[in-house]
Amino acid sequence: MRYYSLKRKSPDVSFQEAVLNGLAPDRSLYFPESISFLSKKFFENIDQYSNEEIAYHVIKQFIGDEIPKDVLYDIIKNTVNFDFPIIPINDSICALELFHGPTMSFKDVGAVFMASCLGYFNRNKNNKLTVLVATSGDTGGAVAHGFLGIKGIEVVILYPSGKVSDIQERQLTTLGQNITAIELDGYFDDCQEMVKKAFLDNQIKRKFTSANSINIARWLPQMFYYFIAYKQVYKQQRDIVFSVPSGNFGNICAAIMTKKLGLPIKHFIASTNINDTVPNYLANGVYNPKPSKVTISNAMDVGKPSNFIRIQQLFNNELSSLKKLFSAYSFTDKETKNAMQQIYNNSKYLADPHGAVGYLGAKLFQKEHPKSLCIFLETAHPVKFMDIVKETLSARMVIPKQIKSSLEKEKKSIKIKTYEDLKRFLNFEKLS
Ligand SMILES: *Cc1c(COP(=O)(O)O)cnc(C)c1O
Repeated sequence: MRYYSLKRKSPDVSFQEAVLNGLAPDRSLYFPESISFLSKKFFENIDQYSNEEIAYHVIKQFIGDEIPKDVLYDIIKNTVNFDFPIIPINDSICALELFHGPTMSFKDVGAVFMASCLGYFNRNKNNKLTVLVATSGDTGGAVAHGFLGIKGIEVVILYPSGKVSDIQERQLTTLGQNITAIELDGYFDDCQEMVKKAFLDNQIKRKFTSANSINIARWLPQMFYYFIAYKQVYKQQRDIVFSVPSGNFGNICAAIMTKKLGLPIKHFIASTNINDTVPNYLANGVYNPKPSKVTISNAMDVGKPSNFIRIQQLFNNELSSLKKLFSAYSFTDKETKNAMQQIYNNSKYLADPHGAVGYLGAKLFQKEHPKSLCIFLETAHPVKFMDIVKETLSARMVIPKQIKSSLEKEKKSIKIKTYEDLKRFLNFEKLS
């Protein structure tokens, strides 16, 4: 498969080159040259396929012959080796739990897949490759875990100081080995800007790539769980709608991609917190990215969602066709907390703040479409946001073993203030 840059000012590249580059040289995002429907037979018999087989069918057209079949199969086995259960909240709203992986975030899927692909591409190279990633919370932990100990790869994680939860911070600062955490005095958008800037800076000597959802190897495997979810509910023969708690819009963009592969989904909802750039755009047609605001669903505190340009591409940049298939709603922290209480009181279900935003989007859509089955994504385990859950609900939480181990280790990070600091670090200079 070939990938082109959405600005079309850089050459087309292979899957491998796109993964290694992260961002295209013209600073734009890569996009597959073609997307084909999967066979009718596949959809009709989807319940006879294992999750691994489903994932293989979904991804193979995007990789072609660049990874041998048996290697790709092993990569997929590592990627979808945990459960993706659907939990009913009421008759027409369900939660799709994506948090049963190693760091209890849906980002484990993309991070493990990408790490395994890079490990394969770098298998015979002696030069070290650095993976540079900005995180608003969960990416860091998932990427750190996915890449831990992978030969020939260094990981540098940039996160906004004091703006990620305690557990999130521990997951990305306690692993050691080939993982370094850098704490920036600023916001997530600043981290993201710095990463983008570093990519274009030819004074940086290291060879590096990005592991943000702009990287196709993180973005594309996120399609897997929409198919896996479909397998679990398609026999109900209802209109299926996904509500995706969205920040950088990579996950919802993967959802919409599934439609291009033929997955019969009726509608897609991007549910956001008060970082409402996209809901505003749908409401008034003006795309006006803003600095991000801090909320209790911190992994979605993104004012300039990088993947939205891919969504626009999927609809040929036509707002009217976008609106037919896609809605976006924004919710405040107060509404989110109320939703967490409502879900807990009515259904005894513990939602995390991100999932609760997804639930609100599902509920709003359901009002007008009462017959549909709305599936909202539970993108992280509630224990990762323990402080907020505790101040909102009187529920007791058991700390899962994946989290416990990182709580026992010591935090190590490097504090920086400016882009120049980051650059010095990347050039192996001493930070004063
Ligand atoms: C990253 C993240 C999101 C947002 O996903 P995007 O693909 O950036 O839109 C939502 N919830 C949680 C818990 C996350 O970590």
